[in-house]
Amino acid sequence: ACYDEGKRVAEALFIAYENFNNVDIRIARIFNTYGPYMDPQDGRVVSNFINQALVNQPITVYGDGTQTRSFCYVSDLVDGLISLINSDYKRPINLGNPDEYNMLQFAELVRETIGSNSEIIFCELPIDDPKRRCPDIRLANEILGWAPSIDLKEGLENTVKWYQKILDLAVDK
Ligand code: UDP
Repeated sequence: ACYDEGKRVAEALFIAYENFNNVDIRIARIFNTYGPYMDPQDGRVVSNFINQALVNQPITVYGDGTQTRSFCYVSDLVDGLISLINSDYKRPINLGNPDEYNMLQFAELVRETIGSNSEIIFCELPIDDPKRRCPDIRLANEILGWAPSIDLKEGLENTVKWYQKILDLAVDK
C-alpha cells in the first residue's frame, strides 16, 4: 500500500526532523474535504457527481455504492488547521467530518440538492477502494476544541453554487 505507507513515512520523517533538528512541526491527517474552488476535473466523487447532476448526465457510482466516506467542508478544515498551528500539539491528529454517507446516498443527496433528473448508474469499482473512511476526531476535539460545524447539505449547496457559476461562465464563452 504505497499511498498509505507514503503518508506514514512522511509522519515519521517529520518526527525525526523535530527530534534531531529542532524543527517545529504539526501533523494533520486530512480526511476527504470539499467545497468551492475544488478542481472540477479532478475525478473525485464530489466534483464528478455535481458536474454530472448539473447537466443531467448519469451519475457514476463505482461498485455497488455501499462504500462510505465522510466529507468535511473546506472552511471547517481550514479552521481545524489554524487551531492546530496555533496549538503546541506535535503528534498526528485527524481532521475531518465524521458524518458518514455511502456513495449511493451521496449520489441521491447531490441529485436532490440540484433538483436534477440524472439517472444513477453503477460502474466498475477501482482496485483498493477503501470500503469505509471515517475520521475519529475525539483527539482534535479534546486538544483543539475543534469540531466541524457545516453539515453536508449546507456545504453541498455552497459548492453547487460555485460549480454552477463555472458552468455558466464556460457556456457564455
Ligand atoms: N466514486 C464514485 N463515483 C465517482 C468517483 C468516485 O462512486 O465518479 C467513489 C470512489 O470509488 C470512492 C468514493 O467515491 O469509493 C470517494 O472517492 P474519492 O476519489 O472522491 O475519494 P477517496 O477514495 O480518495 O476517499
